[in-house]
Amino acid sequence: MIDLSEPLFQQALPLLTIIESHGHEAYFVGGSVRDFLLGKTIHDIDIATSATPQEIKAIFPATIDVGIEHGTVIVRYKGGTYEVTTFRVEGKYSDYRRPDRVDFVRNLEQDTLRRDFTINALAIDSKGHVFDYHGGLKDLKCHLIRAVGNPHERFQEDALRMLRALRFSTQLGFTIDKNTMSAIQQLAFLIENIAMERIQIEFTKYLQGHFFSKKGFSLIQSELYHYLPFPNDLNIDQLITSLEKDFEPIETIKLSNHEILVWGSLLYHLDIQTRELEQSYLRKWKHSNALINNAIAFKECRRLDIDELVMPENLYRFDRDILTLIETFYLRHGRLSSTRITEAYLRLQIKNIQELAINGKQIMAILELERGGPIVGKLLADIERKVVTGSLNNEYDEIVQYINEKMH
Ligand code: ATP
Ligand code: MG
Repeated sequence: MIDLSEPLFQQALPLLTIIESHGHEAYFVGGSVRDFLLGKTIHDIDIATSATPQEIKAIFPATIDVGIEHGTVIVRYKGGTYEVTTFRVEGKYSDYRRPDRVDFVRNLEQDTLRRDFTINALAIDSKGHVFDYHGGLKDLKCHLIRAVGNPHERFQEDALRMLRALRFSTQLGFTIDKNTMSAIQQLAFLIENIAMERIQIEFTKYLQGHFFSKKGFSLIQSELYHYLPFPNDLNIDQLITSLEKDFEPIETIKLSNHEILVWGSLLYHLDIQTRELEQSYLRKWKHSNALINNAIAFKECRRLDIDELVMPENLYRFDRDILTLIETFYLRHGRLSSTRITEAYLRLQIKNIQELAINGKQIMAILELERGGPIVGKLLADIERKVVTGSLNNEYDEIVQYINEKMH
């Protein structure tokens, strides 16, 4: 029996009891159960139930359809949102990624058979009773990622699970079970059947894993890297060793920017020749334009010596978020002992051209020009540079005087 006093479970507990009061079974399942049993903080709670999606919709007034055909309904309850999924078994997989059909079943044990790893196939009921049909509790104790059932079959059903094994390994610091790893090595090529968007999500989690420096090598061992977008001449050992050093002491960097840090660092070590090639490389991984630009900016910051980076004309090129990120990174690695990057940034007279005390229109008026033209742009760029580097104050009168001196 487990003590369910954990606040998020407490909040979600009425969902289980309400479903039960309608004559169905309901359990907490998946990541929240695993993380709770590991003593980690939990985030989103998934619920598995014998009730069909229609039955769930009839019970709760606020639901959102997300994947009814797969049995999933989102239930909103007292400010929380919960994924409630009907027990199901999956039909034949003919494309290594999605079942041809799913069938709803009325029993928990059958539902756990479709789950990826034993530690993800645990369930807890409303009384705190733990259901463990595949030895998940033992694997939690032994720190093992082990496929439910026959690993070959499981990875042939859904090849993404191979990459999920790697990401749980770096997230939890667990070892991938021998048979599970050997199945991955043999079936690694099947990952090519999976949409890159889904691969990228799992690969990012793999890179961000808290235990990357201990378990990052699983990418090499698994052979999966051969089938992921890496350059042909890649030295994978060197890459992983460098990333292990990079990611070692980094834990608390805000997660949204953590993604920039890991992809920016990957780019830094890959050493791709041009910006265009870097962009197309990150596009292969199906990254957003925002991530692409930020990762490249992070890499560029990292390429500069700190003394170079704190020069105003360099600081001005980068967003404050990126500078904060690189500063945190250097502080953690002992390459910096003060917040001198942020301080230098805050001393900049202007952070962008909109903050310049003069604009194009005003310059046209001063030069008595009817229309703009290259001269205005050139002058503006010149003034911007002088203000950034501090050889001109960002004062309207002073700038006008500069223009007059320069033009006459
Ligand atoms: P996280 O803490 O990162 O959310 P999680 O274990 O909850 O980890 P999810 O991707 O949210 O992972 O999936 C929830 C659960 O659904 C898993 O614990 C697992 O039982 C099951 N699951 C998810 N994806 C797969 C898959 N590709 N194959 C089999 N089972 C899966
Ligand atoms: Mg989850």
